[in-house]
Amino acid sequence: MNLIDLTKQLIKKLAPNDLPYKHRNACLGLVFTLLILVLVPDSESIVPEPQNHDLILRANTSPFSTSTFDPLKNIDEAPVENIISTETELDEQEKIQDSRSIVEVRSGDNLSLIFDRAGLTPQDVYRVSNSGSDASILTRLYPGYKLAFTINEEKKLNELEVIISPLESYLFKLNATNKFDIAHVEREPQIIPRYKEAAIDDSLFLAAQRGGISAAVTMEIAGIFGGVVDFMLDTREGDSFNVLYEERHLDGEFIGTGAIQVAQYTNQGENYTAIRYVNLNGDVDYYNPQGESMRKAFIRNPVDFTRISSNFTLSRRHPILNTIRAHKGTDYAAPTGTPVVASGDGRVTWASRNGSFGNLVVIQHGERFETKYAHLSSYARGVRVGSRVKQGDVIGYVGSTGGATGPHLHYEFLIDGSHRNPRTVHDQLPKAESVPAEEMPRFLQQTQILLTQLNTITSAPTLAQNTLPANSRE
Ligand SMILES: [Zn+2]
Repeated sequence: MNLIDLTKQLIKKLAPNDLPYKHRNACLGLVFTLLILVLVPDSESIVPEPQNHDLILRANTSPFSTSTFDPLKNIDEAPVENIISTETELDEQEKIQDSRSIVEVRSGDNLSLIFDRAGLTPQDVYRVSNSGSDASILTRLYPGYKLAFTINEEKKLNELEVIISPLESYLFKLNATNKFDIAHVEREPQIIPRYKEAAIDDSLFLAAQRGGISAAVTMEIAGIFGGVVDFMLDTREGDSFNVLYEERHLDGEFIGTGAIQVAQYTNQGENYTAIRYVNLNGDVDYYNPQGESMRKAFIRNPVDFTRISSNFTLSRRHPILNTIRAHKGTDYAAPTGTPVVASGDGRVTWASRNGSFGNLVVIQHGERFETKYAHLSSYARGVRVGSRVKQGDVIGYVGSTGGATGPHLHYEFLIDGSHRNPRTVHDQLPKAESVPAEEMPRFLQQTQILLTQLNTITSAPTLAQNTLPANSRE
């Protein structure tokens, strides 16, 4: 499930678009038109072929050049001379223009190393990183980010673009006072609606696969309906689901799936409808048409597991030793490294070694609830005592530290200090908050659009095929 989780994280990263659907659609036309204007290269900016050089060099092209994401190879061996030799190949007119080189951040990199590879000095590092509060992005560079340097003919840094993703970058631009202005640039992808449906005769994931539904979308569906359906135990032959979701395209290319807008799940004859809604605070959640959250305050299983290797029991008398050996949690067998997520919002109260628990994370959820996650191989970035976590945040990774015979997550659930069976307590747990009464008119107005859209598709399949892009209905 590692790949799925990575995909999911990537989507989370690419898709934090909290603009209301309607609003976003309204903006889309304008944004897309602007993008096209930006992307059409003007006749002045001729891009030289990268001639096998390790740094891609070009005349002063738009920062949004479509070839920005060409893979770079062997940056290590990129001698600074490359810049000079390539410049001499440019004609007179381009020689006076700036040159732009792109360096990819690799594991173990730091700013000085990267600047050095681009032919810049420690003084440049100092000036750029002290240019304003947004410069703190330079302290959070992850492998895969790209840095595009524009250096003028006096070997002076004119512009630095920190490219986080095709959709997000930071632009540092030298101003008249010899300081850098910083702009946070975010691009809007083109949003294409998709409709898919599938019937289940074995598992959700196999059904989704047959229906041409990506693993990422399937994970989202499992997450959305996880509060009402246990996909490991409750799915039955004859169950079915449908989903209206978004795909993100940039410059005509698919870059990932966006949010699920509305989904329906029929489980053992019962119908559930979940609609995406962005509330007045900008928080996104899924609700039924009456405005009740689809989500429980806790998710059922904090890890994608292969099987439950040991169930909860408080008083199991050992037949020979006549001693009581309790197992105060659920053991989820899963490969080492599988992400473990917080089952509910809360605050970390323990994140270190603890005897036979091995690496342990404990989360306090409000006054009454506490969850424990044991035998972790490692902790997720930023998880330490006092840190706040949201439901679904990765807090660590499955391992076999402490008294574990094989890799698994030992998960405990406590209410008012006493252990409860995590598997059965779930149905008694409170729901996440509903849409507040005063916000209901807004909720109904926005969700009605989605419901109408979905009803149109499900009740008139031939019409749907004509109104949605090709291949969207399978
Ligand atoms: Zn256990």
